[in-house]
Amino acid sequence: MQALNHSPWTNRIGLPFFHLAAFLGIATVSPNLMVVAIGAFLYTLRGFGITVAYHRLFTHESFRTSRPVAFILAFFGGLAGQGAMSWWVYRHRAHHRYTDREGDPHSPRMGGFLHSHLGWILKRSAPVDIAGEDLLRAEWPVELRILDRWMPTLFLAQGALLYFAGGLPLLVWAYFVPTVLSWHFTFLVNSLCHLLGDRPFDTQDDSRNNYYFAAIMFGEGWHNNHHAWPKNARLGLRPLQLDLGYYFIKALEFFGLAWDLVEKTESEIRNSVKRYSRDTTGEPPAPAPEPLIEKRA
Ligand SMILES: [Zn+2]
Ligand SMILES: [Zn+2]
Repeated sequence: MQALNHSPWTNRIGLPFFHLAAFLGIATVSPNLMVVAIGAFLYTLRGFGITVAYHRLFTHESFRTSRPVAFILAFFGGLAGQGAMSWWVYRHRAHHRYTDREGDPHSPRMGGFLHSHLGWILKRSAPVDIAGEDLLRAEWPVELRILDRWMPTLFLAQGALLYFAGGLPLLVWAYFVPTVLSWHFTFLVNSLCHLLGDRPFDTQDDSRNNYYFAAIMFGEGWHNNHHAWPKNARLGLRPLQLDLGYYFIKALEFFGLAWDLVEKTESEIRNSVKRYSRDTTGEPPAPAPEPLIEKRA
């Protein structure tokens, strides 16, 4: 499956196929309340899997949890069809290390909107990326290494299972449509959230807080906040900055399932004297990137 995961043709064929299936499905298969409800439920589960497990737990180590909870969260993330977790985490760490400069896999500044939105995933993985993913995986417990290898299969099996359970309506409205929607919301973090929105923190990149998308992106739209202090479990720093991913982690903490949350407030981040340090050696991204905040004179 790793070969499949790294072939550019997986995305070059898979992306148009899923879009076509979703559009044809919307045009020809009528939804009912049941399939829409299941689709919304699965969309939410997968969304939490991406923001809580892939992003905040495994990329940034914003909190700690037990092996079973980490596995379950990663499993939900795998259902979103955003690739194996090692693939995702490695590239997102590269994005933080080289934000909006040479080495950033998806910067609009380097390649334009379309490249940062989805063009970059149609390109072949460099050997250094594949080696970096292997290093990442080696740090994980055995159950996560196995899950990681089978994530693309798991994602496809999910589609087959939904089809057998509820036929075309369930396949279209709980699989193709929510998958394509969730892809684009994630893509928008990489494209639009580096182009449009406010920049309350003067980071040395183009990251922006995008109010319109923050809520449906499970809090990921507070992207300038995130670049200011990537390790923070909390992306929405103000009471009105809705951040569903953070609330989910707080709920886990309430039930004793998550601990050691990194919870910097806006003023703590602003008062930080930590300088934006960037590695220019061209080495693969470090396992846990340091919080990055710039102080401009
Ligand atoms: Zn970014
Ligand atoms: Zn991040």
